[in-house]
Amino acid sequence: MLQTVPITMKELEDYRPIVGDERIAAIRAFAAPLRGARVLHLNATAYGGGVAELLSGLVPLMRSAGLNADWKVMAGAPELWETTKAIHNLLQGANLAETSVVGHPKGPRKGRQAAATPRVITAPWNAAMADIWQRYNALTAELFDQPYDFVVVHDPQPAGVLHFLRKLKPELTKAKWIWRCHIDMTRASPDIWGFLKPYLAPYDSAIFTMQEYVKPDIPIADIALVTPAIDPLSSKNTDMPLEVMQDILRRYDIDPERPIITQISRFDPWKDPLGVIDVYRRLKRDYPTLQLILAGSMAADDPEGWHYYELTARHAGNDSSIHLLTNFNGVGNVEVNAFQRASNVVLQKSIREGFGLTVSEALWKGRPVVATGVGGIPLQVASGQTGYLVHSTRECVERTHELLSDRALADEFGAAGRERVRENFLITRDLSDYLQLFGHLMSQASARTKTLSASRSEP
Ligand code: UDP
Repeated sequence: MLQTVPITMKELEDYRPIVGDERIAAIRAFAAPLRGARVLHLNATAYGGGVAELLSGLVPLMRSAGLNADWKVMAGAPELWETTKAIHNLLQGANLAETSVVGHPKGPRKGRQAAATPRVITAPWNAAMADIWQRYNALTAELFDQPYDFVVVHDPQPAGVLHFLRKLKPELTKAKWIWRCHIDMTRASPDIWGFLKPYLAPYDSAIFTMQEYVKPDIPIADIALVTPAIDPLSSKNTDMPLEVMQDILRRYDIDPERPIITQISRFDPWKDPLGVIDVYRRLKRDYPTLQLILAGSMAADDPEGWHYYELTARHAGNDSSIHLLTNFNGVGNVEVNAFQRASNVVLQKSIREGFGLTVSEALWKGRPVVATGVGGIPLQVASGQTGYLVHSTRECVERTHELLSDRALADEFGAAGRERVRENFLITRDLSDYLQLFGHLMSQASARTKTLSASRSEP
C-alpha cells in the first residue's frame, strides 16, 4: 500500500468572507458534476517545499467540495532522493559537474564572497540514476492498489508510475491521468528531458505554471496552465495578533523593534541563500541594527539541504543578527507566519523558481517583496507596485534599501500585494482550476485518446 498523507479537514464555506460569494458559487457549480469522484494526488514528500504546502490546502478543500480526494506519497529511499534531486537540477538547467557525484555544488572558496550569480552544479545524467528512478517508480506502481477517476502526479519524481502501472495492473489505469509539473524546464538538459519524455506519453493531460515552461515536443496534447496558490486560512497565512508575533520573534532572539529582512526557503543553491547574506551585509553598513532571518525547512526528499545549510552557516560566520533557522529549531508554519509578517522587506533571491509560494505568502501578509525576476515570481511581484523585481545583487541591495528607508511605501506595496494575491493566488482559485480541468477531461477524454494513440511512443 502507498503511504497516505493525513490531512486536516477544511470547509470551503470558511473561505467565503475572503474570496466572496461569486467564487464560492462558481466552485460549487464546477464541483457538482464531480461529486464523489475519486481523486488521488501523488507526489514525493509529505513535508517541505511548495508541492507539499499546496497539497495540504488543496486536498481537504477538494473533499469539502464533494470529491473523494486522497494524497499519497511514492515509495522512496535516500538513493531515490539523490537521483530525483539531480533530475530536478538538470531540468532546471544546472551546470554539469565533471565527476559523477550526485548533487553537491561547490561552496565559495575560503576568504571569498560568493559570486553574484552562483552556478548550480550537478552530476550528468547516467544509467545508474535512470535505473534507480525506474525501480522506485515500478515499486510505487506495485504498491498502487486502488481505482481512481482522476490521478494527479506531481513533478518528475513519480512521473513514471503510470508507465509501470499500465504493465503491472492495467485495470487501475482507467482514471484520467494528469502530470502536474511545478518546475521551470525551459533550460532542461536534453539528456534528462529525452529520458523523461516517453514516460509522459500515456498521460491524458499536463499542467504547467506558465506557457514558457511547456516543452514544444511534450508528448501530451492536452495542456492546462494553472498557477499555484496559498491557503489564506492555514496557520502559515492566517492573521496573527501582534503580541503573538512578537513573542515568537523573541523566542528566537529576534528583536521586533529592529528592522528585519527575511528569506524563507529551503537551503538550496537555486534559492541563493549566500547571495541573501551578501545583500544583508551591504545593507548593514547603512542599517547597523538590521537583522536577517534565513529560515529553511529540510524537505524529506532534499538530500542537499544539510550540505547547503552548512555552506550558508559558514558564509554567515558568527554574526548574531543573522538568524539561520530550520524546522529542527522548531520553525513550523506559525513561526514562518510570524517571520514573514514581522519583516520590513521579504526577499526571494532565487536563481530559478517554478512559482515561489513564499512570495505570495509574504504579499498576503502585507509585506513588500524584493525578488529576482525569474520563473513565476513576476506573476506575483508587480515591480513598483507590490515590491521590486531585481536582476543583480546590487539592484537587490538598492531596492531593499529604498523600502527599508520608506515604511509608508513598504506598507503601500504590501497592501497592493495582498489584493493581488486575493485576486489571483488563493487556494480557492487553484481548486476552481482543477475542478474545471477534471470536468473538461470527463467530457473530452474519449475523443482525444483516439486521436493521440497513433503519435505516442512509450519506452
Ligand atoms: N517553508 C516552510 N518553512 C521553511 C521554509 C519554507 O514552511 O523553513 C515553506 C514555504 O513557506 C513555502 C514552501 O515551503 O510554503 C516553499 O515553496 P516554494 O514554492 O517557495 O519553493 P519550493 O521549496 O517548492 O522550491
